[in-house]
Amino acid sequence: MVIQFVAGLYIIAGVMFILSLAGLSRPTTARMGTLTGMVGMALALAATIIHSLYMSGHDPDRRSVGVTLLLIVVVLAIGAAIGTPVARRVEMTQMPELIAAFHSFVGMAAVLVGFNSFLSPEGEGGAVHLIEVALGVLIGAFTFTGSVVAYLKLSAKMKSSPLVLPARNVLNMVGFAAFFVLMIWLVVAEDDSLGDPSGLGLTLLLIMAALGFALGFHMVAAIGGGDMPVVVSMLNSYSGWAAAAAGFMLGNSLLIITGSLVGSSGAILSYIMCRAMNRSFISVILGGFGSDGGVVGEAKDYGEHREINADAAAELLAGASSVVITPGYGMATAQAQYAVADLTAKLRAKGIDVRFGIHPVAGRLPGHMNVLLAEAKVPYDIVLEMDEINDDLADTDVVLVIGANDTVNPAALEEPNSPIAGMPVLEVWHAKDVIVFKRSMATGYAGVQNPLFFRDNTQMLFGDAKERVEDIIRSLPG
Ligand code: NDP
Repeated sequence: MVIQFVAGLYIIAGVMFILSLAGLSRPTTARMGTLTGMVGMALALAATIIHSLYMSGHDPDRRSVGVTLLLIVVVLAIGAAIGTPVARRVEMTQMPELIAAFHSFVGMAAVLVGFNSFLSPEGEGGAVHLIEVALGVLIGAFTFTGSVVAYLKLSAKMKSSPLVLPARNVLNMVGFAAFFVLMIWLVVAEDDSLGDPSGLGLTLLLIMAALGFALGFHMVAAIGGGDMPVVVSMLNSYSGWAAAAAGFMLGNSLLIITGSLVGSSGAILSYIMCRAMNRSFISVILGGFGSDGGVVGEAKDYGEHREINADAAAELLAGASSVVITPGYGMATAQAQYAVADLTAKLRAKGIDVRFGIHPVAGRLPGHMNVLLAEAKVPYDIVLEMDEINDDLADTDVVLVIGANDTVNPAALEEPNSPIAGMPVLEVWHAKDVIVFKRSMATGYAGVQNPLFFRDNTQMLFGDAKERVEDIIRSLPG
């Protein structure tokens, strides 16, 4: 009866996770989607705890119910004591690195579950289970080091440019081939030890884990600069597959469902981002395979830039009939979204047509700009994707580039040797006037110079984006 009840709760939780993903696909239903996912997770946790307690009560070989309950409470308390302050302290701009760090935990959990399931006296033997264990350990170890490298790169604790070892693709292929040989060896060796984990089996599993750690480090270190967004969503996908692998090893259907949902939605997101950035999905998955490992371009002399102040910018805006705002990572760091929403409302009240153009990799997270604009209550219907707005830019009077850099860089289209060559960008330079809000002439995330800043129709408005937007609001006539 209890087992059926738990299975029922697992099915309800699984359905809630699917509904949650459906809700998250549209800004208007995203809040409901998050709530559905949270309730699903609470049900899943409750079902897992009930299951553990029930099993403890019914199996004399296991710990007593009291000890199991105590262990669960202590583990939850430790997790909450570490997680709550971290989640409270983290800034929105640090979310990508926090997510990368979380992915690493999922990877390490899969590795530990793999070793536990191999060494556990209750563990089932058999070739299929050993293959599950080997694959679970490989995917988990790969996800762990890959996510740690992504965390270090996103938090600027490690250089974001790609690590290009000689014959790196051959190295990766040799690594995977060695893993498959070891996995077959493990199955054969354990068959001979008749279900009792052998010393040789453990050694083989440890070598496979070491290979997974090395491959994860190497393949993610080989991806850099502008390709990092794809890495984040790819590791999201890998963490899902690691969880699914843990589900197979533990015989837990909900973990398999949840892991597969995360794995496949992460894979779809990676594919969408690759298409948006004009990169081949396979080349990115294989850790820069096929890319030239291009390093950041040489400093070029694009001439002089022009500057503008807030009063002149306000005057230009007041005389415009159409304005497009293209926000980037700088809007997030400046927390300028509320000021930008205020400016938008004021301009619209004057009858000026104001719209937003969002690049798919603007900011540091998929959907980063959409979240900030939604938070500041900018109406959804004036927030357009890059593809929807690019053709209208030539008929636009003023473009405000607020803390964006790589996503508006014409070098991506005009300089074949640029590290971001081929990446579609917001073609803001076609507008009559462009005002760029940033603090200096520094490069953006990909470390590439931006010739937009030196164009005849571009003017730089230096300073913190939030302060400058507020200055403009104050200077707007009437
Ligand atoms: P960029 O990172 O290219 O540029 C941001 C600009 O904002 C900088 O040039 C900086 O210039 C400016 N800035 C920073 N702080 C402020 C501030 N307080 N006020 C005003 N300006 C500020 O941003 P984009 O959004 O255009 O591009 C995103 C980049 O991040 C792409 O290369 C993308 O590949 C990468 N990326 C994206 C991820 C995603 O999922 N979206 C994940 C990982 C990487 P200055 O210092 O002079 O002020």
